Amino acid sequence: MDHSDWVHEAAHLRPRTAAFVDGDWLTPKSGKTFADLNPATGHPVAHVAEGGPDEIDLAVGAARRAFEDGRWSAPAERKKRLLKLADLIRSHERELALCDTLDVGRPITDTFDQDVPATAECFAWYAEAIDKRYDEVAPTPPGNFATIQRVPLGVVGAVVPWNFPLDIAGWKLAPALAAGNSVVLKPAEQSPLSALRLAELAAEAGIPDGVLNVVPGFGETAGQALGQHPDVDVLAFTGSTPVGGLFLRYAGESNLKQVWLECGGKSPVAVFADADLEAAAAQVAFGFCANSGQVCSATTRLLVQAEAADDFLALLREKVAAWVPGDPLDPATKLGPMIDEPAAARVLAAVEASTGTVLAGGTRRGAFLDPTIVTGLRPDDPLVTDELFGPVLATQTFESEAEAIRLANDTPYGLAASVWTRDLARAHRVSDGIHAGTVSVNTVDALSTATPFGGFKQSGFGRDLSLHSFDKYTGLKTVWTAYA
Ligand code: NAD
Repeated sequence: MDHSDWVHEAAHLRPRTAAFVDGDWLTPKSGKTFADLNPATGHPVAHVAEGGPDEIDLAVGAARRAFEDGRWSAPAERKKRLLKLADLIRSHERELALCDTLDVGRPITDTFDQDVPATAECFAWYAEAIDKRYDEVAPTPPGNFATIQRVPLGVVGAVVPWNFPLDIAGWKLAPALAAGNSVVLKPAEQSPLSALRLAELAAEAGIPDGVLNVVPGFGETAGQALGQHPDVDVLAFTGSTPVGGLFLRYAGESNLKQVWLECGGKSPVAVFADADLEAAAAQVAFGFCANSGQVCSATTRLLVQAEAADDFLALLREKVAAWVPGDPLDPATKLGPMIDEPAAARVLAAVEASTGTVLAGGTRRGAFLDPTIVTGLRPDDPLVTDELFGPVLATQTFESEAEAIRLANDTPYGLAASVWTRDLARAHRVSDGIHAGTVSVNTVDALSTATPFGGFKQSGFGRDLSLHSFDKYTGLKTVWTAYA
């Protein structure tokens, strides 16, 4: 597929726009729709049904019935249907990739080559895990027998962001469904299309009606209604830290549903003078430019050892020059627009208000922001402390290992970090010292379905991916039999 093929296919995309509830399309009672805009053009991709509390209530009711009557309770059947869904994701790869590229401006090479295959793999991985996990037998006195089982919790509400629409939906849905729950998913208002198509593919895969429901709508209405719903057992959220806090409040004010939060970050990358500076520069560029820096674990804080700072920044500027904003439908494009023009303007305003010196970038056209490197920052500059969610790298220098660790931890977040050095002992000491959910050594943002992803401090708690994510969607149940 070349650029013109993708443009042609995009013009013929006919996305689903209604809510998907109880195995069928549902038009909200209000009849309201919202414009789903393409960030690259500012034009609507679609007008999507605006679900609200009524639609959330219908979806939760359908999910509850589906859970209680046992239609999704047979493990072998779940495995078969989820594997089929993984196959259907693969066979609809172009359409799903286009949904996300048009919705959020993420380059088509990334959505097509990475996100769609990764989502298919995620469903297949959890489907395969279904019949490979065993429960426990507790040590008990003679004449007694006690099993400890992991049981599904019931109705899962999932509220997700727009930065990786399909991927992050998959991170919630695959383990939640594999564990035997029913789900109501509220995608972000900026990116509802791939989730709606996924729901339709799930039905085609034979996942029973009511087991997976998708209600598009806004956070303050549909999202809040899901967070406050008295019949939702678990709420799995990915998004910003302030909204994560709201979900804790919603749970406290409603039914004490379990809440799992994957929130923001401001991840440091520490480059020591003994590192492979060339490789580090390429990866640091990737770490803050990929997806226009709109990545929760983006390494947007560079800590470079002072003696190597000049050399490293020169290399980094060279690498960043390859990240030229372009049409996300062009397979040659590495860097698309930000999610919308106000977001790009907000990030640039923060750069302009900062105390530092702009070494590269600092310019924008509409929603397209050039990758920006800022040096000479005070530690309390918002560019250093705040999650900007854009392609901006805040640079600080350090002298010693201890100072690198102190600066790395000087943040309210604890999602990810990266360390570059050729000294193995130092790599271990520094990774041990950094309080983050994932520390990548001589790479950035290391991630796979097999490894847990999530953070400490205000980056949230609970983990997506890996077998550990079953902890969020199951509860421990003891059955103790006295037989003597
Ligand atoms: P956001 O918090 O604005 O929105 C996330 C979701 O919450 C959306 O579906 C939105 O509609 C909903 N929402 C918004 N306000 C709400 C409210 N008042 N009540 C209920 N729901 C509400 O975040 P965003 O802008 O979509 O995404 C960017 C954020 O997500 C960044 O902070 C980023 O770090 C974070 N993120 C974290 C991870 C992770 O795994 N830790 C992954 C991706 C993104």
